Amino acid sequence: MFSDVIAFIQDLYGSKSFIPLHAPIFTGNEKKYVIEAIDSTYVSSVGAFVDRFEVDFAKYVGAKKAVVTGNGTSALHAALHLLGVSRGDEVITQALTFVATPNAISYCGASPVFLDSDELTLGLSVTSLAEFLFQNAEVRGDFCYNKRTGNRIMACMPMHVFGHPVQIKEIVKLCDEYSIPVIEDAAESLGSEFEGRHTGLYGRIGVFSFNGNKIITSGGGGMLVTNDVDLGIRAKHLTTTAKVPHAWEFFHDEIGFNYRMPNLNAALIVGQLEQLPRFVRDKRETAQIYNSYFSHKGIEFVCEPFGAKSNYWLNAILLSSRSERDSFLNETNRSGVMTRPVWNLMPDLPMYRTNLCGDISVARMLSDRLVNIPSSVRLPRG
Ligand SMILES: *Cc1c(COP(=O)(O)O)cnc(C)c1O
Repeated sequence: MFSDVIAFIQDLYGSKSFIPLHAPIFTGNEKKYVIEAIDSTYVSSVGAFVDRFEVDFAKYVGAKKAVVTGNGTSALHAALHLLGVSRGDEVITQALTFVATPNAISYCGASPVFLDSDELTLGLSVTSLAEFLFQNAEVRGDFCYNKRTGNRIMACMPMHVFGHPVQIKEIVKLCDEYSIPVIEDAAESLGSEFEGRHTGLYGRIGVFSFNGNKIITSGGGGMLVTNDVDLGIRAKHLTTTAKVPHAWEFFHDEIGFNYRMPNLNAALIVGQLEQLPRFVRDKRETAQIYNSYFSHKGIEFVCEPFGAKSNYWLNAILLSSRSERDSFLNETNRSGVMTRPVWNLMPDLPMYRTNLCGDISVARMLSDRLVNIPSSVRLPRG
């Protein structure tokens, strides 16, 4: 039934053997820098590449401060901790996300509140957020409270799904009215912009991931960005064991985290970041090719939302039903063309079954019908 789609993807990637969903590519200075790091003996938690990556990254996204971490999940945890999220608080996010988003909230002892998705952006729905806040939220003094539970609503964490920017301006505006800070889970959206500003820079803090399947990788890694310089300095302190600088004394002034990225990993990603603009161009071109193919076939291809420039990290199509989706998954994977359904919705996972949850019918529709298709960079792999 989908043999022509399979043939098209095999042709696009010039391969009849296994085609992964997203494979990394190391054709720049990655090897050279990793060897430099080894030769310097600075392979661990401090080193020149760590500092260089923070500077280069801040420049690329246009942030005043960037703080590198060992992975994206720890960056999310640190971001929530920095904004004072603690035991008994609530944090608003979307039902359709990767499990790291609610897990980071849970590490603080707080509870994720799950809201619906927007059909066009795939991310947090503004209508769903407005409705939840209107019905439940009340600002008293410095904080916003959930009138029904009595808990503080300490943050809102929208996620830019597959690199497509959410309606971030409306979300920030709405949250501002309720004194709720926004942390953007931009783990998937490095290279994506909304109205000319990079994702991750609309909220108080933005978080990125450099896991092996992301657009660029350090093996494992994460980043926290902010335009609030003091907050950025606190983030660096908190994620590096909260050690007060001194020539020989070991004095730590709070319970910090060891969330540092080793210099060896930083060397790899300094080389990757140099290539990012090419990767984004290549992936946007691939998306265009998919878009015109699927529109001829009458299959819905997920396009970047209006006003957004997406990195098209993972391309996605919407099949007409869950059963059609399942046939598509079966046929493609059997032929070595890797495709995947979207995540199970967070409120369907055992640990989040009893959490607060809005009407999530759009998220349910997406999780029934959406499939990711091969999206690796197609540049020569050397
Ligand atoms: C990849 C990812 C993360 C962070 O993942 P790490 O593997 O910890 O770097 C967080 N949120 C989302 C939505 C992700 O896709």
